This record gives sequence, C-alpha cells and structure tokens, in this order.
Amino acid sequence: MPIFEFGLGCAECAMGRLAWNADRDTIGLHRLTQAAGATSRMDRLIILDRDGVINQDSDAYIKSLDEWHPLDGAVDAIAKLNHCGWTVAVATNQSGIARGYYTLDTLNAIHDRMSLLIQKAGGYLAAIEYCPHLPSDECACRKPKPGMLTNIIDHLRTDEDADRWMVGDSLTDIQAGIAARCRTVLVLTGKGSRFASEVRRRYPDTWICHDLAAFAERLISESRPSVGEN
Ligand SMILES: [Mg+2]
Ligand SMILES: [Zn+2]
Repeated sequence: MPIFEFGLGCAECAMGRLAWNADRDTIGLHRLTQAAGATSRMDRLIILDRDGVINQDSDAYIKSLDEWHPLDGAVDAIAKLNHCGWTVAVATNQSGIARGYYTLDTLNAIHDRMSLLIQKAGGYLAAIEYCPHLPSDECACRKPKPGMLTNIIDHLRTDEDADRWMVGDSLTDIQAGIAARCRTVLVLTGKGSRFASEVRRRYPDTWICHDLAAFAERLISESRPSVGEN
C-alpha cells in the first residue's frame, strides 16, 4: 500500500507533492527532479547495502526468491526518501554467484521483486550494482573496496559536493562508504549489531540507527530544504 496517496504529497516536503502530481505513472527520480525544477545532476544520494538493510540476511546466503524477505518498514523508507528528494541506489556483494549457490537469473529475479515492491510503495531505485566475485578474485568492486559506489556516483552524474550517504550492516559497508567519500550509517538490522562497538570506536562519525526506517526519519528531519523547496 502506498505511503502517500495521489495528490496529497509528502508530509515532510513540498517536493513530493509536486513530483507526485506531475508524474504519477513514471516514478523515476530523473522525472521527479525535473518536475520539481531542480537541475539534472544529483545533489542528494543514498547508497544502500541490500542484505540486512532492505531484506533479512542469512549466513547461508539468499539463494532464491523464496528466501528474500523485506525487513519491516524498509520498502516504505526508500519511497519516503525519494519523496523528500533523495536518489536511492543499491550496492551489494553477491559472491554466492561465484560460489555457484545461485545464478544471475535468480539474482535478477530477486532484484525485479525488490524494485517492484518499492515502486508499489511509490519509490524508485536509481541503480543496483552487485559484485559477483569471490574475496580471492581481488576485484575492484567487492566491498570494502569502493568500486560499486564510485560507479553509481559517476553513472548518476552526482554533484561533486553532493550530500552522499552509504548505509550498511557490516564494517565493510562503512569502509567502502568512507573510501567513496560518503557519510556513513550502520543499521542494527542484519549483522549490524555485531559491528556496532567496533564502528563506534573506529569510525565515530558514522550514524548508528536501529533500521533503515529510523535512518530515513532522522535524515529527513535533519536535512536542509533542497532546490525548489522553501
Ligand atoms: Mg549486508
Ligand atoms: Zn567484484
């Protein structure tokens, strides 16, 4: 069920109302920012880890569509961030592909389901980047390396001084975020609680939030109005 009814807009910002009315059928952020009179470059970007942030994690990997279950409030949180002017993308390590636990077709089916649920809530993912490699492959994309994040930042033509965030439930998410010059958030869902004390000690600027919904609420309440708002 959508969190914002058509025509009512977002309670937190004027942008949601403008965008929602202007472009109900195509809920893409490119169209949203155009509708609100902003520039075509992105000035507010949030990159999310997937497992443990958007959906329940498993130490045995998420190997099928049946094993993919969204966390409470996560899908609506993404839609709410979109409505308040944030571009949202995903960067996820998926070494289960190289390990032969599941195929690329399965991963695509999971991402189709995830995208559809977010669209039904009135939101939109601007990009999904995954790393299919093993740690021993020493690729440039597997977090804690920042390759997927920098790809997203470049691909979405993010402003040099954009407000950029990386949200994850692992130490490696935080390290990738810092390497890509993002502000960082550890959520306590998934594996997050295992890393809380180490993140507090090593990366004290990192926000620690109960879950994605709590992060969205805090960010929206602390953010300055974006272009086109007053
Ligand atoms: Mg994770
Ligand atoms: Zn990789």
